[in-house]
Amino acid sequence: MTSGILCRVYGLLLDELGPQYWWPADTAFEVVIGAMLTQQTKWTNVEKAIEGLKEHSLLEIVPLAEADTGLIEELVRCCGFYRQKASRLKGIAVFFAENGMENVFSLPVVELRKTMLSLKGVGNETADSIVLYAANKPKFVIDAYTTRMMKCIGIEGNYMQLQQRFEEELPKDVDTYKEYHALIVEYSKAYCGRKRCNECILKDLNENGY
Ligand code: SF4
Repeated sequence: MTSGILCRVYGLLLDELGPQYWWPADTAFEVVIGAMLTQQTKWTNVEKAIEGLKEHSLLEIVPLAEADTGLIEELVRCCGFYRQKASRLKGIAVFFAENGMENVFSLPVVELRKTMLSLKGVGNETADSIVLYAANKPKFVIDAYTTRMMKCIGIEGNYMQLQQRFEEELPKDVDTYKEYHALIVEYSKAYCGRKRCNECILKDLNENGY
């Protein structure tokens, strides 16, 4: 990988945690559903909901598109905002049933991102998670963990500015983008979230003199 502070951070995180092999899902559609459900909730709740959807054979496009909304609501209740989430899950399933997931995922990355953003309940982070982890296209995912970590090393910006920075500095490589985002999340959960800043492996890094 080329030089630059973001490459340096990647190396340090990888050395610390080892590869994460994200996203934990059996199918691309499961990634889509997980990306929608994980908004404003913990991953453990998403796992519970996914398990329930699987048990009812609703982790497939057409069955979910045709499912009773009340049943979906029950199954995703553990993720919070369950009415909204159930209707959005159904909406995205209907969209893929009508347009074909393979067709949609074969769009060029910019167009695919725009298409995802046009769906109800899909913002930047969800769209990029789908583009990267479900469609396997190079789009770097930014989240609150990334924003906080970047701030710690002197890099600030809004979603699009941070994404551009990562995409300019890293090789355009799907596996690297996948791994890097996963490492940021896992590191943040283990260190930032537990206020272990005094042990932080990034604490001596800074944008202006790393
Ligand atoms: S552990 Fe603390 S210093 Fe390190 S990245 Fe997280 S918030 Fe920043």
